[in-house]
Amino acid sequence: MINASCGIAARTKAVLRDIFGFHFFRPNQEEIIQAILAKQDCFVVMPTGGGKSLCYQLPAHIMDGTCIVISPLISLMKDQVDAAIAAGLRASFLNSSLSAHMKREVESRLAAGALDLLYVSPERFALSQFIATIKRVQLSFVAIDEAHCISEWGHDFRPDYLNLSMIVREFPDVPVTSFTATATHRVQKDIVDKLGLRSPHTVRASFNRPNLFYKVIPKQKPGDQILKFVRNHAGEPGIIYRMTRKSVEQTAYMLTRHGIKALPYHAGLSDSIRVENQDAFNKDEVDVIVATIAFGMGIDKSNVRYVLHGDLPKNIESYYQETGRSGRDGEPAHCLLLFGYGDISRIRFFIDEITDDTEKKHAIKCLNDMIHYSTVHACRRKQLLGYFGEDYPLLTSHAEGSPCCDICAGEVESIDATEDAQIVMSAIARTGERFGITHIVAVVTGDDSDRIRQLGHDRIKTYGIGKDRSKRYWRLIIDNLLAQGLILQTKGDYPVLRFQPGSREVLFGSRKVHVMKTRKLPPQSRRGKAGRHGQTRAVGGPYNEELFDQLRDLRKKLAARHGVPPYIIFNNRTLHEMARFFPVTETEMLYITGVGEKRLASYGKHFIEAIKAFRETHPDAQPGDFNNST
Ligand code: ADP
Repeated sequence: MINASCGIAARTKAVLRDIFGFHFFRPNQEEIIQAILAKQDCFVVMPTGGGKSLCYQLPAHIMDGTCIVISPLISLMKDQVDAAIAAGLRASFLNSSLSAHMKREVESRLAAGALDLLYVSPERFALSQFIATIKRVQLSFVAIDEAHCISEWGHDFRPDYLNLSMIVREFPDVPVTSFTATATHRVQKDIVDKLGLRSPHTVRASFNRPNLFYKVIPKQKPGDQILKFVRNHAGEPGIIYRMTRKSVEQTAYMLTRHGIKALPYHAGLSDSIRVENQDAFNKDEVDVIVATIAFGMGIDKSNVRYVLHGDLPKNIESYYQETGRSGRDGEPAHCLLLFGYGDISRIRFFIDEITDDTEKKHAIKCLNDMIHYSTVHACRRKQLLGYFGEDYPLLTSHAEGSPCCDICAGEVESIDATEDAQIVMSAIARTGERFGITHIVAVVTGDDSDRIRQLGHDRIKTYGIGKDRSKRYWRLIIDNLLAQGLILQTKGDYPVLRFQPGSREVLFGSRKVHVMKTRKLPPQSRRGKAGRHGQTRAVGGPYNEELFDQLRDLRKKLAARHGVPPYIIFNNRTLHEMARFFPVTETEMLYITGVGEKRLASYGKHFIEAIKAFRETHPDAQPGDFNNST
């Protein structure tokens, strides 16, 4: 028994190295793979970028029979299959995009036992013909990706997923494994119940994404703020989420006008344009995709360097999943959220339209959690992980000296703004709770206008009392009071500010108000900065930037030639290691993370040639020492 399990462990490690080109399992991968090999049902929650695909691809390669992978997006299947084939796996997909001839070809490979992996959509399980087909072949196990789509409590419920509850009934001898990146405990229970998993081996991996940096700034002029951020990250692939189709179009147009390669993505575009735009982004032909939440479920691009939310997301689950689309290659990535009060009222407007009471309460709670996250002076990562029931020990991150968010980095301070809140509230009270934000700010800052004089507001006690500070500052105070529910903005065409139960407590000094304020720090990009000998730092260590750029160009050319996205050839992490260690033999290449035998055979020689040429022209460039690699 011990020998048998040692044998299996050695076999999985050999496959990890030879097929996938990886030297170590990521956390939890090995135990999940062992459970699948032991034919157990599994329930896995693992963050985006945690390496879920490997958990089913590796055992699918080892086990007899075919693994059916259920994946929600037809548009992604081809990329997933291309990536599996690039690693040397026998994979294919069946979906409506295939011609009758191609479909027959896949079915005959399936019947001949010549497929390790067959990717299908959940809709296919409603087709009796499909069920009959897979009943005739040997199945190793079923892997359900994005399993949270089966739960109505999740944020991506898809009715098609309900078809999957028949798998356990129809195929009682086939193990079923389910994978998701987002599931609270409630969603987890729902998934397990709906799929009918049998005492599943359960893994809730840490949600922590150590390479992501979280930041929230007050939304002031979103266009300018977005442009500035994108320029600071020039040449890096990024996703910008906006709430509406119109703002998506406007933002993409604005960026393009400023010479940035950006494309829009939303449900109002035709299918073909959406596919084209996503493809251009995947292939690094454009840097930025500006999108509504229609974009990205299961997006596989691993080198996304930032996700910018130009508007407030509706809940933390979506926010975390969307930010999680950055940095899947393990390299540093930046998640910026622009937080403005206007978005809260817009979301509240939609919530008001919900007729079901339970659903409405749930939506309000989700929004409040999101507001809390954005406005509280507490480590963002700790808050996010706490939301998913995970404790994050703050001291560790500080001791490591790598702050994970703007709060820990000291970029934001919490200031006691009680006096200023009282000034605003007094202005609201003295003008009879009949005016909106702009007017209250004008009164407090002492605007010299006819309107103010006609209304007699230049004679009230608070007139001009805050003229030493900018209008922007006073808006910030008002936004914070609104977000904290200490005042209210009415709905309709002429929204005005009104008191709330907590207002008087603030006004009469029995309650303090704290607001978050961005500290002015010397400008500093979070990207690795070029240092001595043109070296740049990435997660794995310093690398030669010039060589990296050359290898990236080479990858782009090869990707175009083979008609696949660049990251399918090698991801950035792999190129960084090459640009660090300068491998020039096949053996040295196999030491590089992400270089397996199949990829070495397909692409190795091109990269070796490029590195040799670089070494000849740059005799002074020093490679890192493999023995001291981290
Ligand atoms: P997920 O589906 O969980 O979001 P993926 O399966 O797409 O994540 O994996 C994310 C990235 O991590 C991919 O580039 C993949 O090749 C890489 N990866 C997976 N497992 C390992 C490993 N053991 N070592 C190094 N890289 C890995």
